[in-house]
Amino acid sequence: MIHEIYLINPAENTPGYFGLEVLGSWTGINATAMADLATPTVAAFAPSNWRVTICEERLDAVDFDHPAPYIGITGKVTQHARMIEIAAEFRRRGKIVLMGGSYASLSPDALRDHCDILVTGEIEDIAGELFDDLATGKHKPVYQGGKPSLALSPVPRWDLYPLERTWSAQVQTSRGCPFDCEFCDVIQYLGRKQRWKEPDQITAELDVLHVRGVRSVFFADDNLTVMRRRTRTLLERLIEWNDRAPEDRMAFSTQVSIDISRDLDILALMRDCGFETLFIGIETPNEPSLAEAGKRQNLRHDMIAQVETIVRHGMMVYSGIIVGFDQDDIDIFERQFDFIQSMPVPLISPGVLVAPETTPLYARLLAEGRLTTGADHSASLVSTNIIPVRMSSDQLRSGMTWLLNRLFAPEHFVARLERYIALTGERTSDQSNRPLFTGPTAALARKLVTRGASEYALVRAFDRASEKRSDLKLSLTSIFSFYCQARHMLEVQDLWRPDLARLERPVL
Ligand code: SF4
Repeated sequence: MIHEIYLINPAENTPGYFGLEVLGSWTGINATAMADLATPTVAAFAPSNWRVTICEERLDAVDFDHPAPYIGITGKVTQHARMIEIAAEFRRRGKIVLMGGSYASLSPDALRDHCDILVTGEIEDIAGELFDDLATGKHKPVYQGGKPSLALSPVPRWDLYPLERTWSAQVQTSRGCPFDCEFCDVIQYLGRKQRWKEPDQITAELDVLHVRGVRSVFFADDNLTVMRRRTRTLLERLIEWNDRAPEDRMAFSTQVSIDISRDLDILALMRDCGFETLFIGIETPNEPSLAEAGKRQNLRHDMIAQVETIVRHGMMVYSGIIVGFDQDDIDIFERQFDFIQSMPVPLISPGVLVAPETTPLYARLLAEGRLTTGADHSASLVSTNIIPVRMSSDQLRSGMTWLLNRLFAPEHFVARLERYIALTGERTSDQSNRPLFTGPTAALARKLVTRGASEYALVRAFDRASEKRSDLKLSLTSIFSFYCQARHMLEVQDLWRPDLARLERPVL
C-alpha cells in the first residue's frame, strides 16, 4: 500500500536578513537564497512505500487541494504565523496536520492546539516509529525526539526539492555548541555537547548536491569550528573533496565564533577549502553587555583586529549585532555605529535583543517581571519582548531605527565595502570572466538605481570594486544582493527613513 505526505516549509512572516524576498518583489524573479534543510531531511526518513511531495512556499504556492492525507509543516519562530494559517486551512479540509522543527521544539505550547501531531526535538530516533504509526493510522498526539547520534542522519532527499531556484544549499556537519550565551535558544534545543557527522556522510551529501548543480553550500552548524581537532580533520577532508574538480569548486559558508581568528592554521585551511563567508555573533563593543550575556569568547580581545585577521585570510565576516542589553546605555547606538563602521564588514544583521522562550535570559526576565506579552516581536527589527533597563522602550525603538538607517545608508555601506576590499586577501579561484551584475543581480541593480543618486553611487562603487578586484566577484555579488534585501526589509517594515541617516546621533 502506498502512503502519502505533503511536507511544507512555509514563507517567513516578514522578510529577514537571510532571505531573498527582494528578488521576487523588485524583479518578479522566483528564487530563494537558501534551500530548506528540514523538509528534504524528513523526506529521507519516509519508507519506500511513501509518496512524499515537498512545498517550498518561498518559491511555490501551497497546494491546499493536495491529495495527501498527512500534511507536515516545519518552521522557525520567523515562520510561526504562516505555519498556523496553513495548518488551519488543511485541518478545515479534514487533513491530519503534523508540526515539527525548531519552533515546535522550543515553543510547543504555542503550536499544540494548531496541529494533530506535534513532533518536538530531533527526528532521527523517532522517525521510524512516527512513519509506522502514520501508516497504521494509530498515531499519537506528541512525538518527542532526543539528541540522537548524527550517524542516523540520512542524505536529504534533494531530488524532491527545487534546488534549481535556490542560490545555496545546506549541509549540517554537527549540532550543538559548548558555549552558553544567555540569549541562545539553539543550545536549549540541540544541546551543549556537540555531535558530529562522519566525514564520509558529509562528502556523500556534498556529492549529491554537486551532481545536482549546486555550487554554494552553507554548513548549517551552530559553531562549525569550536572543536579544533575535529575541525582540522574535517577541513583537510573538504580540501581534498573540493580539489577533485578545481574548475568546478563549491563555495562554502558557515557560523563560527570569533575566537577562531586566534587559530591561524584553521583560517588557512578554511580559505583553502573554499570558505567565502563566516557568520559571527560579534554582538556589541560594550564589554559589560558581553559579560552579562555570557559571551565570554568575545571578551578580552580586540574584536576589530580579530575580524581583520579573518578578512586578511580572504574570507568575509557576516556580523551579528545586538542592541538592548541591560548594560546598554542610550549612547549604545552611536557606539555601535562607530564600531561597525570601523570593521571591514559590509554584511551585518543588527537587531534588538529578544528573549526566546526556554532561554536563561527569558527565565531571568520573567522572574524580574520584565517581559512583555502579546506583540509579535519577530515581525519587526525594532521590537522585542524585553522591557529595557537603562532606556525606555521608545528610546530603544527610536535608537535602533536611527542605527539601521545610518548603517544601511548607501554611503556608509560603501565605506564598509571599501574597507573590506582594501583588506581582504586574494582568492584562489579565477572569477575574472564572471560578470558582476548578471541576470537577477542586474535586475536588482536596475531597480535600486531608481531610488536615488546615493543608490546609483552605490552601484558604481560595486562596479569599481569589481574592476579593482576581479577575484572577488562572487563575494561582491552576494554583498550586493544582501544590500538589496536589507533595503527591501527596511522598506517593507516601514523603517526606511533616509533623513535619520543624516543625523550624527539619534534624537531620543
Ligand atoms: S556561540 Fe552561538 S550557538 Fe553557541 S551558545 Fe553562543 S549564540 Fe549559541
